[in-house]
Amino acid sequence: MIGRVLVEEFQADVLKWLRERVELIVVNPWIEPERWELEALRVDAVISRKGKITREQMEKSGGRLKIIARTGVGVDPSRLDLDAAREFKIWVTNMPGSNAVSVAELVFGQLIALVRHTFAANQAVKQNRWSDYLRYIGTELAGKTIGIIGMGNIGTRVAIRARAFEMNFLVYDPYIPESHVTALGGKWTDLEGLLRESDLVTVHCPLTAETTRMIDEPQLRLMKPSAYVINAARGGVVSEDALWRALKEKKIAGAALDVAEEEPLREDHPLLQLDNVIFTPHIGAMTLEASKRGEWGAAEEVIRVLEGKRPRNPVMELN
Ligand code: NAD
Repeated sequence: MIGRVLVEEFQADVLKWLRERVELIVVNPWIEPERWELEALRVDAVISRKGKITREQMEKSGGRLKIIARTGVGVDPSRLDLDAAREFKIWVTNMPGSNAVSVAELVFGQLIALVRHTFAANQAVKQNRWSDYLRYIGTELAGKTIGIIGMGNIGTRVAIRARAFEMNFLVYDPYIPESHVTALGGKWTDLEGLLRESDLVTVHCPLTAETTRMIDEPQLRLMKPSAYVINAARGGVVSEDALWRALKEKKIAGAALDVAEEEPLREDHPLLQLDNVIFTPHIGAMTLEASKRGEWGAAEEVIRVLEGKRPRNPVMELN
């Protein structure tokens, strides 16, 4: 055994492969947060889907913890203190692109759910209100403009699918070349132009200091009253207060959220009271395919580092 590894509840074949190489501690951080916190202090590696690792835990591990491997893409500060990891010389790895198709497909599910009111229509049938069908007149996606904020792995998959749906797309992403957008048939624009012109706005950038609340009251005010917001990136990118007000006052038509500023969403959250917002509980990457890619990739990173090798996808360098 080359080390002790804390891992979330993964698919059986990944756990079996890991057990052949390391002493494995399997904990669900949502169900047993105290145990997760405690075990994180006594391991050489952590493989995490959603579990938090704080500066304090890194410090208390006393140099034992060598790698935190994320199965997904996001390494936002609320779950992982990157400065602390650098300071304590702990590798942090992620799995770029592993869940891009899954998230993009979920976004299309949300787009259709929004413009065709499928969540509400489903409820109507189940509550014996079939004759309510006249309330569910929707709009087509074809011919509409989708604004994509962040044109990385997921944003690009959304753009490709938008073309298949005969939609136009606009992109705001200051860190990519315009040619990447035009080659796919889209238009590169600034944030203001995107918000003014789009019928649907979908967010696919990471949560950083720069993107925190990048969609706030002034930005929502620029949108068409018939437009929708989709956030399957991170809760903090779209201000929940401002979104609640815009939805309540019908300044925009609706929203679909796969993420929240604080997860799980508390049961008295004001957004839950509104009819024009639909939710999923952060399931963008929850497919068999994405889990398999993410879990295998993260497991391999941990074994590489415990064998003294360099990880394949470090989020930052350690000096
Ligand atoms: P990526 O790194 O491939 O792409 C991110 C893109 O955002 C990059 O092109 C980058 O240039 C752009 N960007 C950065 N700062 C920006 C800014 N200020 N304005 C506009 N664009 C900006 O990442 P990805 O795989 O496409 O994932 C995007 C995000 O989606 C992740 O960071 C993560 O937070 C989120 N995500 C959510 C789920 C889910 O389950 N809902 C799953 C995977 C990823």
